[in-house]
Amino acid sequence: MGDCSKLAQFLRRSVLAAIAAALMLGLMPAAFVSASTAKPLTIVATTSMIADAVRQVGGKHVEVTALMGPGVDPHIYRQTRSDIAAMTRADAVFWHGLYLEAQLEEFLKTLSRRRAVVALAEYLPKDRLISHDTYHGRYDPHIWMDPRRWKTVVLAARDELTKLAPEAKADFAANAEGHLAEIDALAAYSDKVLASVPKTARVLVTAHDAFNYFGRAFGFEVLGIQGISTESEAGLKRVETLVDAIVDRKIGAIFVESSVSDRNVKALVEGAAAKSHEVVIGGELFSDAMGQPGTYEGTYLGMIDHNVTVITRALGGKAPAKGMNGRLTPILRS
Ligand code: ZN
Repeated sequence: MGDCSKLAQFLRRSVLAAIAAALMLGLMPAAFVSASTAKPLTIVATTSMIADAVRQVGGKHVEVTALMGPGVDPHIYRQTRSDIAAMTRADAVFWHGLYLEAQLEEFLKTLSRRRAVVALAEYLPKDRLISHDTYHGRYDPHIWMDPRRWKTVVLAARDELTKLAPEAKADFAANAEGHLAEIDALAAYSDKVLASVPKTARVLVTAHDAFNYFGRAFGFEVLGIQGISTESEAGLKRVETLVDAIVDRKIGAIFVESSVSDRNVKALVEGAAAKSHEVVIGGELFSDAMGQPGTYEGTYLGMIDHNVTVITRALGGKAPAKGMNGRLTPILRS
């Protein structure tokens, strides 16, 4: 046996011994563990939009549970016993932040002392947020309504998942890139379709102030009956002001929301009728919750696509009935 092969044998033994020692001591770096054999991260998300972003980016590396399903209002949602159990067991909790889940804040702050608890929307720099009209230092949380702002949340999901599972970094990066391209396509489609609404008709009257970012992004004036949060009821004065606005400006359609009672919107229709102006309910918009899981509207892309289609068609513009991907099913209210 020559010196060379002896050296090779020695080196091989040394490396094997070092690996064995590292394994025994639990020192193997995460990168040595195959990403495909690692258990998926269990993530609890608050809203369905946050859950969607984490699923899109996390792919096979995550198992995501959303606390709030279709039609659930995040402004007033309180954690249940089973939510607490799920959040306490999860590898991480991803929430929106910016005071959207007002009732969950205290619990999440406490949980953050022993779990990864991440507010994805708080990654947006303050200059990209709309200030709250009544509370100084607070911001309008409804950023998902502007696809271009929502991209920051997707990037935040990528960075936070990478911290939790660095071995899957490349997958998270590729998934995020793919989803960002879809969001870009959604934004460009929305620009084009919404621009077909006549300029004088670009007024969006909805149940609560969830559409300010939408309005900024696509050039619509936005009038909500309730404020940025649904926590406080709209006053009679606000309803009267909006009835006058609808009548004076000859607004033809207003909108109900999937996660807010339609009572106030119906009051506007009746109020306008009493002043001899016919305004119709132009359809149901997804404001603070997505559609049913397993449907197109149960995804972020489908949610926004649905809203764009309903708003455009109700206010006199032209949009394909089935939306950007030809998959929309009309949601009819009785
Ligand atoms: Zn809201």
